[in-house]
Order: sequence, then structure tokens, then C-alpha cells
Amino acid sequence: MKAFEYVSAQTPQSATDLAGANGRFIAGGIDILGEIKDAILEPKRLVNVKSLPNSRDIKPSDQAWTIGTNVTVAELTWHAELRKIFPGLAEAAAEVGSPQIRNVATVGGNLAQHSRCWYYRHRDVRCLKEGGSTCYAREGENKYHALFSGNPCISPTPSNLAIALTALDATAHVQRGGKVVKMSMPELYEKAWSNPLAHHSLETSDLILHVEIPVRQRRSAYLQMAEKHDFDWALVSCSAAARVEGQKLFGARIVLGQVAPVPYRSDEADKFLEGKILDNAVAAKAAELLLAAATPFQHNAYKVPLAHALIRRTLLKLAS
Ligand SMILES: Cc1cc2nc3c(=O)[nH]c(=O)nc-3n(C[C@H](O)[C@H](O)[C@H](O)COP(=O)(O)OP(=O)(O)OC[C@H]3O[C@@H](n4cnc5c(N)ncnc54)[C@H](O)[C@@H]3O)c2cc1C
Ligand code: SF4
Repeated sequence: MKAFEYVSAQTPQSATDLAGANGRFIAGGIDILGEIKDAILEPKRLVNVKSLPNSRDIKPSDQAWTIGTNVTVAELTWHAELRKIFPGLAEAAAEVGSPQIRNVATVGGNLAQHSRCWYYRHRDVRCLKEGGSTCYAREGENKYHALFSGNPCISPTPSNLAIALTALDATAHVQRGGKVVKMSMPELYEKAWSNPLAHHSLETSDLILHVEIPVRQRRSAYLQMAEKHDFDWALVSCSAAARVEGQKLFGARIVLGQVAPVPYRSDEADKFLEGKILDNAVAAKAAELLLAAATPFQHNAYKVPLAHALIRRTLLKLAS
């Protein structure tokens, strides 16, 4: 491990100034310390952002909730009112890693975490995502990889929270230089769709301050399938949100995780659900529409039927 400076920022502006181009933020440290220990990242400076004022607040309101970047994943699962208003988010948080990880991991760090592709994480391999010339997963071991990508890298975005927050139409408020910019969840990840080097759309000195979730009287749900019950990432996950009147859905969003470098959704599938009475056949048709462009690789075709089942179950859970 190479030596680096360690500083604690007291304001968002000083955090972004201190990070600059060669520094990195550290919050819970679960992801970034792993990358440093494995020599994947060699930052000159680590900027601790855990002391930023108000960054651990969860602020409810009738219009929108604000969740500070340093709220832990565990706190999302414990918050009784949040579980009632945004059950999909609490369920996604409850599936992150293990209790030890959830107690330390933060919302900002979870959203900004880097690829889990085993080639990317291997200290002796320099793949396309790290500036090399080859994606080793395409012709290699691609069991955990994406079904959709807009670029040669097929590493899926690993964040559970990103999937639930996309279904809930959340917005990230980001300190960029002297300004605060608002990024929808699709905007927060869109760069990773087209650019193999990107894990998300943030530059190294862009600091997530908080996420804002609109309150729209919608139900939400999250389900995932993993190989292990605990201490593991999902193979595929699904989150959905909609206003449910009787058995009819309005303003529905269905989002898939672990199948694309971004939280994956399609306007066509969402529009199909508008005003429909939800039953098995409707849920199956929505699943077909969402999966229409899936392009499996040698070892990950199992994700297609898995995603199909999860979409149906998540939608039915929403309406139950
Ligand atoms: C065994 C294991 C299982 C796991 N399973 C899951 C899982 O099922 N689902 C899941 O979602 N995750 C899972 N994870 C990943 C874990 O949840 C993330 O590593 C963690 O949430 C990162 O949060 P952190 O606060 O520790 O971030 P850090 O490691 O401190 O930071 C992560 C990245 O975010 C950047 N960053 C931190 N804060 C900010 C900010 N405010 N603004 C901008 N960038 C920032 C850092 O520079 C770094 O690049 C698992 C991890 C392990 C080890
Ligand atoms: S999927 Fe992406 S991260 Fe994995 S080997 Fe290919 S380029 Fe690298």
C-alpha cells in the first residue's frame, strides 16, 4: 500500500477542494479501503467526510424526505416512519451485506461504490475499466455480469440503494466545486452506461450531500435473489413503486439491479402498467417488456428467468 495523506473536512466546499483530482473521499471505508489494500486505487489523499455538519440527518416532510449522505445503511432499516413511507428503500437497505457492514456503510458511499467485477478487483489484472484494452469478462467468467450495457464493460452497478432510490424518483444533491447540482438517479449513473471507465457520473471531487425522495403516496417494494442469505450481493434485484388504487397502478416505476451498469428501467414497461389492473398476466407482460433487450453471455443467461420472476413478484407484492 502506498502512503497517503489523511484529512478530515469540516465543510462540503473544503471536502471538494481537498479531494481535487488526486484525492478520494472516505466515509465508512468499506469499499475504498478494499480498493486501496488491493492496489486498485492509489490516492494521494483520503478526505474523511464523516464530520460534515448535518450529514447524518434524516429529515421527513410532507413533500419530500432528505437523507444525509452519512446516514448509515442500518439507520435506513431501523427508521420506523421511513419503513412505513418508503418500504422499498428499507427493504433494499436490509439486504445490504451483513449487520456489521450495514452499521458502517453510508448512503453516499453505497451509491458511489465501485464495480465488484472480479477482474476489476484483481490486483494483477488491468482491464478496460482500469484503462486497459480488454474486458476479460466478455469471453471469461461472466456469471455475475450484466444483461444490458451501452459499452464494452459488462460490470453491473452493485448498489442496492440505487435501485430502490431510482424506483422512488429520488434526486442526489451534489457539491460540485462552488455549486450544488441536483442529479436524478438516472443522471447519477448515466455515464457508466456509455463509458467503460466510469462507475457512475460523479467526478472524484463531486460530493453527495444528501438524497431527496419525493412523497407521492406511492407504495414501494424491493426483492432480490442471492446465492447466500447474508454477506453477499444480489444476483438480480428488483424495486418497484406506484400509486395503487384498487388493484390499478399509476405512475409505476420498475427497476432492475445487477443487470446493467446503471439501475435498469424502461419507459415502455412503466407505461404499459399505467392504469392496468395488476394480475399475473399483466406482471408477466411488464417483465417481458423490461427484459426485451437482454443480451446474456455464456454464464449469465440464468439471470433472465430470475429477473422475470423477480419483476412479477415485486409488482404483485406492491399491489398486495
Ligand atoms: C461482503 C460484502 C457484501 C456487500 N454486499 C452488498 C450488497 O448486498 N448491496 C450493496 O449495495 N452493497 C454491498 N456491499 C458494499 C457496501 O455496501 C459498500 O461498500 C458500502 O455501502 C460503501 O459505503 P462506505 O460508506 O463504506 O463507502 P466508502 O468505502 O467510504 O466509499 C465508497 C466510495 O464512495 C465514495 N464516497 C464516499 N462518500 C461519498 C460522498 N458523500 N460523495 C461522493 N462519493 C463518496 C468514496 O470515495 C469511494 O469511492 C457489500 C460489501 C461487502 C464487503
Ligand atoms: S466487465 Fe468491466 S470491470 Fe469487468 S473485466 Fe470487463 S471491463 Fe473490466
